[in-house]
Amino acid sequence: MVRVGLAMLQGARHEHAEALRAASQQLQIEIQVVELRSSLEVDESLDCIILPGGESTAMRKASQSESLLSALFSWMEQHPQRPVLGTCAGAILLANPGENQTPFLRAPISRNAWGRQRDSFEAEGEISLDTPSGERVSLDTAQRDKFNHQPLPVGTQTVEENSTRFHGVFIRAPRFDQSNIECTPIASFGDEVVGVLDGQRLALTFHPELTGDYRFHRWLLDKAHSAQ
Ligand code: GLN
Repeated sequence: MVRVGLAMLQGARHEHAEALRAASQQLQIEIQVVELRSSLEVDESLDCIILPGGESTAMRKASQSESLLSALFSWMEQHPQRPVLGTCAGAILLANPGENQTPFLRAPISRNAWGRQRDSFEAEGEISLDTPSGERVSLDTAQRDKFNHQPLPVGTQTVEENSTRFHGVFIRAPRFDQSNIECTPIASFGDEVVGVLDGQRLALTFHPELTGDYRFHRWLLDKAHSAQ
C-alpha cells in the first residue's frame, strides 16, 4: 500500500486524485490518497507527496492557519528519498519555498512568466523521464467527491505510451530560469525546459493531471513503491 499525501491547499487537487487513481490501476499498486489540510496530517506514514497547481500566493496564505506548508517542507527535508511531484504552483513552492527555507529544487523559477491568464497555452513537448509502463485498464468515470466536486473528465485523450511526446497545458505558468538550471531537465518544448528532476523531486510547469497522461503519476507511485 502506497500512501500518497495530496496537499489540498487550493487549485487542481481533485484532478490529481483522479490521475492517481488511474495510475494506480495501471500499475496495479494499491494506494491510499491522504488529503492534507493541516500539519497534523503530515506524518511518517506518507510515502510520497503531490503539490498541485493553483495560485502559489493563495496557497501560502491558505496554509498559514494550519501550518501545512511548513510541515510539508520539514517532511521533505526529513525524507529526501521519498518522491514529490510539484505541478505549476507546486513547482514554484519547491523552487522557492520562502524565507529561511532552502530550495528543494536547483532550478530558479519565475511566476507568471508567460504573461496573464489569457496568455495560457497548450504545446507539444518531449519528455525524457524513465516512467514505468502501465497495464491497459478501462478506467471508470470520475465520481463526485464529498464536496460534490466533479473532477474534469481526464483520461479522454489517448496517450501514446511509448512516445516521448507529451501534451503540455500551461495555465498562467511559471518559467524556469533557463540558464541557471542545475538539476536534470526531463521535459521541454523546443529549447525551453518545462520539467526538471532534482533527486526525487519532480517539478513540472504544466498540468499533466488535466490530460490523460498518467506517466508522471506512475513515476511517483513507482518510486514510492520501490522505496518501501
Ligand atoms: N500563476 C500561478 C502562480 O503564480 C501558477 C499557475 C498554476 O499553477 N497553474 O502561483
